[in-house]
Amino acid sequence: MLGSLQKIHLPMKRFSESDEVDYVIVGCGSAGGVLLQRLARAGFNVVALEAGPFWDTELDWVSDESGSHQLYWEDPRVTGGSDPLALGANNCGRGVGGGSVHWAAFTPRFHPSDFEVYTRDGVGADWPIDYDIIRPYYEQLELEMPVAGPAYYPWGHPHGYPYGPHPMGGVGNALIKGCTALNIPVSIGGPVAILSGSHGDRPHCIYRGFCIQGCKVGAKASTLVTHVPDALASGAEIRDNSMASRIELGKNRRVTGVHYFDRDGNAHFQKAKAVIIAGYSIETPRLLLNSACPGFEKGLANSSDTVGRYMMAQAGNVVLGRFDQPVRMYKAPPAHALTEEFYETDPKNDFARGFAIQTVGPLPIAFGKEMVAAKRAWGWGLRREMMDYNHWATFGLLGEILPWPDNRITLANETDHFGLRIAHVSFNLHDNDKRLIKTAKEKTTEVMYAAGATEVIQEARFAHLVGAARMGSDPRTSVVDKFGRTHDISNLFVCDGSRKALPTPPHHSGTRRSHGRLPNLSTRCHLYV
Ligand SMILES: Cc1cc2nc3c(=O)[nH]c(=O)nc-3n(C[C@H](O)[C@H](O)[C@H](O)COP(=O)(O)OP(=O)(O)OC[C@H]3O[C@@H](n4cnc5c(N)ncnc54)[C@H](O)[C@@H]3O)c2cc1C
Ligand code: SF4
Repeated sequence: MLGSLQKIHLPMKRFSESDEVDYVIVGCGSAGGVLLQRLARAGFNVVALEAGPFWDTELDWVSDESGSHQLYWEDPRVTGGSDPLALGANNCGRGVGGGSVHWAAFTPRFHPSDFEVYTRDGVGADWPIDYDIIRPYYEQLELEMPVAGPAYYPWGHPHGYPYGPHPMGGVGNALIKGCTALNIPVSIGGPVAILSGSHGDRPHCIYRGFCIQGCKVGAKASTLVTHVPDALASGAEIRDNSMASRIELGKNRRVTGVHYFDRDGNAHFQKAKAVIIAGYSIETPRLLLNSACPGFEKGLANSSDTVGRYMMAQAGNVVLGRFDQPVRMYKAPPAHALTEEFYETDPKNDFARGFAIQTVGPLPIAFGKEMVAAKRAWGWGLRREMMDYNHWATFGLLGEILPWPDNRITLANETDHFGLRIAHVSFNLHDNDKRLIKTAKEKTTEVMYAAGATEVIQEARFAHLVGAARMGSDPRTSVVDKFGRTHDISNLFVCDGSRKALPTPPHHSGTRRSHGRLPNLSTRCHLYV
């Protein structure tokens, strides 16, 4: 019953639970899907346990905003702290493809500065790897997904993209107009992992704006359509609707496999020589914490007491502007133009690090929620605002929030329907974060007015979780090493967004030590296509 675009050739290989497979991967999302393909291609016996379903793009997905809510991780979680995060749809996916099914597909690379923020800016910490190590993998994945974007992308390490950029929608045109008026360089038509021309079996984008609803067309990259088909053809197995509940520790500090529940709630155990967790920033630490056992009473691989800590989100405020002329936000992928001109630390600012400004194209229900949040619109007032939908454009700022130990996943006392303790997510903004968000909001608002908006409002939001199983060289302050191997257990790995953490060292005071190099960009206005 799989849709033609997925080109999955069944039957899939099946391993028995008593087979000791080479690897079990927990979570078949953005990272797990790619890793599954790489390991299967390399000849390993590998099984992915995925809590959600194996989507059939033909039967399960609809190009309808309200019909696509099953794509998200909506199981109960507790959210807290001084600035509680909205969880669920805005943060986590569920099902084969994970978050890559509903991501907007913007694919800017990290800048070299991201790997050495402590050295440059005196905040966060340096990574155990640098940009040059990761650069060939960017180049490889930009070809595999593939990524459309400008021939010359000026920020960070300048580079170009393999596919030509996309045409502009109304929001992109507004961003270009606003940036041009203010002499801010802007990248047009990408970088975004959406096909601007057909590629293999996949057709090009048809610009109808349902990217966050899964892209039934198949033009947007998700591991479901890019890497999973090849993983299965190469001999991998995916067990969908299989919720990993605990990782089993055997003798000599080595794990022996994964306990999981199938769709009917029956308990199983898959033996494995090694286990890789790829469940993302909340579920990865939750699984490690729920796997506490004698010898690891605070959670598996948690001798450093850092599992769950240093979780980050990005400030994702949405700035909405009303234009006299129709904009028609839905007639393009939400992701199609951006500027990273404010990404790096600027000594003129009263905060370290920076932000990007991107196009966002909410469909009517999301727009309605934004009107409720930003204008307190309700009843007839809300209906009037929604009837005005075609006149609005939205920009999203993406602001870097620093890693703090109190931004943390722990276990709540409540349990889910499997009887597993659910995650408690605590999130607090610190001074640097608040100052950065204030400036980013003001700059984004300025760009919106410069584009010709007559009214500008904004909604506070957070997006893009990372961290909570942080990578580092020191076993006392990090969970995994630069290869993703846990410091405590040699055959247990983490490979997902939870690994991406810029830890604040214990001696760090929270203020900037020095300013780093600034990118050598011309101040003349540039449009990069
Ligand atoms: C609306 C939205 C838009 C986004 N847009 C962008 C964008 O434009 N660009 C960008 O770079 N990023 C974007 N992101 C972020 C991006 O989607 C995530 O960073 C990315 O998907 C994380 O990858 P991952 O492999 O760590 O986790 P995921 O892709 O979330 O995969 C984790 C998988 O593990 C499964 N799982 C978890 N726990 C268990 C368990 N116990 N047992 C079995 N399975 C389990 C989950 O069901 C899920 O499928 C967006 C996110 C959202 C929500
Ligand atoms: S706009 Fe393009 S990428 Fe987005 S859902 Fe439509 S076809 Fe897919």
